[in-house]
Amino acid sequence: MENKIKEVKKEIVSKSNLIKDLKDIEKLRVEYLGRKGAVTLLLRKLGTLSPKERPKIGQLLNQTKREIEELLKTKEVEIEKLDKEKRLQGEGIDITLPGRKLGRGTAHPINLVLREIEEIFLSLGFKMEEGPEVELDYYNFEALNIPKDHPARDDQDSFYITKDILLRPQTSPVQIRTMENQKPPVRIIATGKCYRRDATDSTHSPMFHQIEGLAVDKDITFGDLKGILTIFVHRMFGEDRKVRFRPGYFPFVEPGAEVDVSCLLCGGKGCKSCGYVGWLEIMGAGVVHPKVLEMVGYDPEEYSGFAFGMGAERIAMLKYGINDIRLFFENDLRFLKQF
Ligand SMILES: [Zn+2]
Repeated sequence: MENKIKEVKKEIVSKSNLIKDLKDIEKLRVEYLGRKGAVTLLLRKLGTLSPKERPKIGQLLNQTKREIEELLKTKEVEIEKLDKEKRLQGEGIDITLPGRKLGRGTAHPINLVLREIEEIFLSLGFKMEEGPEVELDYYNFEALNIPKDHPARDDQDSFYITKDILLRPQTSPVQIRTMENQKPPVRIIATGKCYRRDATDSTHSPMFHQIEGLAVDKDITFGDLKGILTIFVHRMFGEDRKVRFRPGYFPFVEPGAEVDVSCLLCGGKGCKSCGYVGWLEIMGAGVVHPKVLEMVGYDPEEYSGFAFGMGAERIAMLKYGINDIRLFFENDLRFLKQF
């Protein structure tokens, strides 16, 4: 029995030198370790041995079995490595193959509108400014001629963090911060997020985007404001749009105006979307109030200015014909992919 085992071992070692591929290895595995394999058959014969011989032969057989398993495993690893090297040599890289296409995202409609508005005003000589979204009450109201007891504060239900700190309900505080740090001439636009405690519906969102503009210099008049905003409307909505300035009240301007554009759908004849008046309101504007200039240390006798502010969502809704502000924030790809 012992000789037989040694013979089996010698046999498989010489056969293993002839192995060419994984199939050969599998064949040897079946031949020796399979259910009817040489080693398995020897193991079955253990029962016929004398109790004295059995442990010694059993141990030898088990060891031989392990050695064969290891031998075959080593051969397998060798062959796999060789196969891989061969494959790599044969393959190379085909640089003429077209690349894999990645799905590209598109810009959000609000960003598109902000970018377009920014470009228009930058081309007119305005500079970009920005300010904090968490703002002091002073910059939001007091410096904008809205004292503590002013009724305008009730209109803007704001998110207060403490008595004196709030999430800005408008981008106007950027005007004050800019003027405090800069001498005239000033010509800036500021865009960014604003927050108001509005319940969400088709035209309101507690978070929205504003675009704010300010120009201060010697001899700036309401005429300059009309000129700049007319250029803006024509570039944004088309040369054939009419612009209308109606008197409007905002505490930080005097005189103040609401700016309308002739309805984009009916061209001014009157339709459902303009409430049958032919006009759509797009922003508030006016000549900077002398008190605001005084607050930042400008002499209102020497300098004057104009300011305007509009909502990016409103502009985007008018421009793209969107009837529900919530679509901007629901992240529905079917909507977003259209831009
Ligand atoms: Zn209309």
